[in-house]
Amino acid sequence: MENQFFREEEEKRLGEIVRTALSVEPSVPSRSSCPDPEVIRALAFNVEMDAATIKKITLHIAECYDCSMLTDKYVQEYRKQQQDES
Ligand SMILES: [Zn+2]
Repeated sequence: MENQFFREEEEKRLGEIVRTALSVEPSVPSRSSCPDPEVIRALAFNVEMDAATIKKITLHIAECYDCSMLTDKYVQEYRKQQQDES
């Protein structure tokens, strides 16, 4: 019960990431500056990190098709894990 608010915030945040990711145009790859997949995973798994890093990665995901796909994959992994734990 008391986790309800947090869960809603969490869903909202992940939704933002996925929505941003899915609006990406595949025609603009920027592989050279891709962050470490572990960092993308950490973002999707809601690991605590500084706001500047989150902003930088989110902006990159918004313009990188590969990373947006990766984010989507990790977010789904995270959700599955949450379901398995509960
Ligand atoms: Zn990328």
